[in-house]
Amino acid sequence: MPKTVSEVRLDSLLNTAVDGIILIDDAMRILVFNSACEQLFGYEAEEVIGENVSMLMPHEYAHEHDDYVNHYMETGERRIIGIGREVRGKHRDGTDFPIELSVGEALTPAGRQFVGIVRDLRPRKAVERRLNQLQAELVHLARVSAMDEMGSAVAHELNQPLTAVMLYLQAVTRRIAGLNGDGPQDPMITETIDKAKREAERAGNIIQRMRHFVEKREPDRRSVALHTLVDDTLELTSVGTNSEGIQTHVELPDDLAPIEADPVQIQQILVNLLRNAFEAVRGSTDPKVFIRARQMPETVMISIEDSGPGIPQEVHERLFKAFSTSKRTGMGLGLSISRSIAQNHGGDLSVDPGGNGKGATFQLTLPHNANKQSKQLYPGAGAIAGSQPMTPHPITVEDHDEGGRQ
Ligand code: ADP
Repeated sequence: MPKTVSEVRLDSLLNTAVDGIILIDDAMRILVFNSACEQLFGYEAEEVIGENVSMLMPHEYAHEHDDYVNHYMETGERRIIGIGREVRGKHRDGTDFPIELSVGEALTPAGRQFVGIVRDLRPRKAVERRLNQLQAELVHLARVSAMDEMGSAVAHELNQPLTAVMLYLQAVTRRIAGLNGDGPQDPMITETIDKAKREAERAGNIIQRMRHFVEKREPDRRSVALHTLVDDTLELTSVGTNSEGIQTHVELPDDLAPIEADPVQIQQILVNLLRNAFEAVRGSTDPKVFIRARQMPETVMISIEDSGPGIPQEVHERLFKAFSTSKRTGMGLGLSISRSIAQNHGGDLSVDPGGNGKGATFQLTLPHNANKQSKQLYPGAGAIAGSQPMTPHPITVEDHDEGGRQ
């Protein structure tokens, strides 16, 4: 029998709806199952029509659903009808997923029927999860940055007492050196005071570097000697990092060409690589970190190798993406920022993940300026090594899957 106009209209309405629509009778048998439902639950309409609607619910909900319906039939009290509620649906493949279910009732000549409108909550849940995650990361970032501010404030506060200590020590030195002609000349005292002065000076230098490291500033490219930069960085890394018992070997050739770079930014990369390396070797029996450098025709390659466990495959795949970390307090920003700094300098940052008894080795390449002078003599000869690329390299942000951060 051909369909009536209103039947055709109803079919088209049902199958155009974005939400799933299910009609059941009072014995909970499915009467209508629209296209959106087919997509959601993975069944064709013909397969489910006449079946009990509980086949679309996880076991525990199916039970609850029976109770709802019986309770309503007996008492007329509405717990879901006209209200809508968040429940779970069961896909043909056995997996269950969050849905919003609103139920309406119709008293038809064929008896009482219920219509359920089903909305897939997975996209909304995924967005909510991502938002929560981002919010937690932001809160953490704010905490880290508050720590940095506290660090700079402490550095500022310490400057004055340190200068005072230096001045007192100088005064004592002058006194005992017999400037007034009557001071004692015990070498042990002079030596000890000299040691105290050196320590105070060292503390002053560390504080100055810390302040320089965290202060907000415009990028500044210049010719930088790597030896000094590495020494300064090691000193800086000793602040707030437990590197006790870790053997650090620095093997830099004496005649290394200077690099053309923003020293603070390169220091930022090295601090990050060294901190990660120190963290990776902590707890191993013979903890070692090697800092080496090799000069190539256009670049200098600085490598930082550690004797840690190496980087597991799943961490390695997302290593340079922002927010990928395996540490409880880590932001997972260090390596992605480090790589973009290196690339903005016309260099790069790569890694040999090691594993099987071998630690990780990070390789930082940066253009040196050994050839710069000769090239500048011939301005028509093309790009100068180390010149900045046209577009800045952005930080890569990891797209989180439904499971969220590992
Ligand atoms: P964070 O230090 O905040 O976690 P990073 O981007 O610096 O962020 O590092 C990301 C992750 O890479 C670390 O959490 C760690 O799992 C891994 N990683 C980095 N360096 C090493 C290393 N030398 N050995 C082993 N794993 C490392």
